[in-house]
Amino acid sequence: MNLSKPSGKVIIFSAPSGSGKSTVVNHLLKVFPKLAFSVSATTRKPRAGEVHGESYYFLEEADFKNKMENNAFLETEEVYPGLFYGTLLSEVQRIWDNGQCVVFDVDVVGGVNLKQKFKKEALSVFLKPPSIEVLMQRLNARSTEVAHELKMRVDKAHFELQFESKYDVVLVNDVLSETFEKSEKLVNDFLSS
Ligand code: ADP
Ligand code: 5GP
Repeated sequence: MNLSKPSGKVIIFSAPSGSGKSTVVNHLLKVFPKLAFSVSATTRKPRAGEVHGESYYFLEEADFKNKMENNAFLETEEVYPGLFYGTLLSEVQRIWDNGQCVVFDVDVVGGVNLKQKFKKEALSVFLKPPSIEVLMQRLNARSTEVAHELKMRVDKAHFELQFESKYDVVLVNDVLSETFEKSEKLVNDFLSS
């Protein structure tokens, strides 16, 4: 399957896990009916409250690899050892066919790859935690990972923070209400450009 010629805009949010991407993206989806979330596929297990087809398409590894072989993905990454994530072409097409703008929540490498594909049709935003210490506190407070998974996320954050210069905009997520305000302005400006 191929995407028909790019016919819509996309907004890419990337950040180390725990920086607040889901929080900010969910807020924007409520404020802007024009936006629609690209539901990724992943081989990680669902967290409590996560629904198949809403947060992610939760797939067995064999199924994920099969989709890779059938070129169903726009990009895939082994974000953590043994855990695969990928953007489905069918999601982007579905959203564009609906006349909406696609919102991606992807890792820093996936975000750079998507920006290269969509170029001026894409706004890429790097959401940055105020510090690694704050990131750790937020991940601890979220309580969705066991200790070794949490360590894996914090360890990776050091590597991920090196990618900020490759993004159109860097947004430090300190006071949430301010982040909401700034991200709303960014989206508004991009949608009307
Ligand atoms: P991500 O999607 O990047 O992994 P989340 O959106 O799940 O991150 O946020 C991680 C945790 O931090 C959540 O418990 C969320 O409620 C909290 N959080 C997000 N932004 C802020 C903020 N600005 N101040 C304090 N807590 C925040
Ligand atoms: P989590 O397991 O915390 O939901 O996500 C872990 C990381 O994988 C996050 O940085 C998230 O943005 C990223 N991710 C989610 N979906 C995709 C995807 O389709 N592609 C890529 N490259 N990364 C993704």
